[in-house]
Amino acid sequence: MLSPRKAVRSIPVYHPPLAGRAGLRLDFNENTVGPSPRVLARLNRLTAEDLARYPERQPVEATVAKYLSVSESALLLTNGVDEAIHLLCQAYLEEGDEALVAVPTYSMYRIYMSATGAEVVSVPADGDFKFPARAVRDRITNRTRLIAIASPNNPTGALTPLDQIEEIARCAPAAAILVDEAYFEFCGTTFLASAPEYPNVFITRTFSKAYGLAGLRIGVLIGNPEQILSLRRICSPYNLNTVALACLPEALADQGYIEQYVRQTRESRRRVETAFESRGVQFWPSHANFVLARVGTTKTDSQAFVEQMRGRGILVRDRSADYGCEGCVRFTVGPQEHTDQLLTALAEVLEKLPVAHGVSRS
Ligand code: PMP
Repeated sequence: MLSPRKAVRSIPVYHPPLAGRAGLRLDFNENTVGPSPRVLARLNRLTAEDLARYPERQPVEATVAKYLSVSESALLLTNGVDEAIHLLCQAYLEEGDEALVAVPTYSMYRIYMSATGAEVVSVPADGDFKFPARAVRDRITNRTRLIAIASPNNPTGALTPLDQIEEIARCAPAAAILVDEAYFEFCGTTFLASAPEYPNVFITRTFSKAYGLAGLRIGVLIGNPEQILSLRRICSPYNLNTVALACLPEALADQGYIEQYVRQTRESRRRVETAFESRGVQFWPSHANFVLARVGTTKTDSQAFVEQMRGRGILVRDRSADYGCEGCVRFTVGPQEHTDQLLTALAEVLEKLPVAHGVSRS
């Protein structure tokens, strides 16, 4: 009988709760409004001929390279950052290898890592959910071939200091170090300037968040040109579709749109954090477009909270299943009018449900 590889059989199926998302979408860290109007205008100009042709990635890679001020040979456009993670795992991991993640973090790292047959080593975050730099360094062995660092991290919003990334990159020269900057726009801190000094470091950025293009699936992987060439060997030449490739240059050209979205999001983040603080709800100061807060002590509490919010037309995400996150909910933030709605519902629900009170942690 046909059977997938052992590594594949043991991976639990990941079902993101995407069904029935009617309401204000504060559950998946997407842009809550949408992309620049220039993107929609470009969509409307697409022709049948455009769709009939295989997509050509190279000219758009040149545009993105210019935008990031890196050479074209140092990047690869991917079908979302998810594909970049998948490619890195395929290129650098095999059975017998070890891959390190600091938990809690983005769940797809583990899935793609495990699928190669490598052993995934989870290092618990420090108290306060700070990146456990020393513990990660202590777990590096001669079998470590990949270390994933999300900065800002999802679901905690924590930023990893650049010197800690440098140290890990130096301590593990034979491992690929993924610095996942999916939420870069909301904090402005990046490892990009230091990357050329570290041929084992890769940086990812996505156009799913600030740029509002999650549905088009576009991300970019930046790294040492020799390593990028290896990744191109295993990447489909048609991994990005024509629609995504047509729209991305328009989104990039409208930096004013991104700036105003980011400005509003940062202001909203501050308002939401202040609301938690004033009510004594434990939360983790965030550098991204979401805030994690402990609204109860158990999964039952956080599920009840999410349902109450849904009843008020607001979708937020229960994160209880993540390491150390029992009773926690993640709130995506966006423009002010969405934050007004969120804060109104939040006040009602916090009033109604017994919440976990505690000091906010920094
Ligand atoms: N990295 C992190 C840290 C994320 O939170 C996400 C999406 N939630 C991704 C990568 C995937 O982004 P994309 O839509 O580009 O695949």
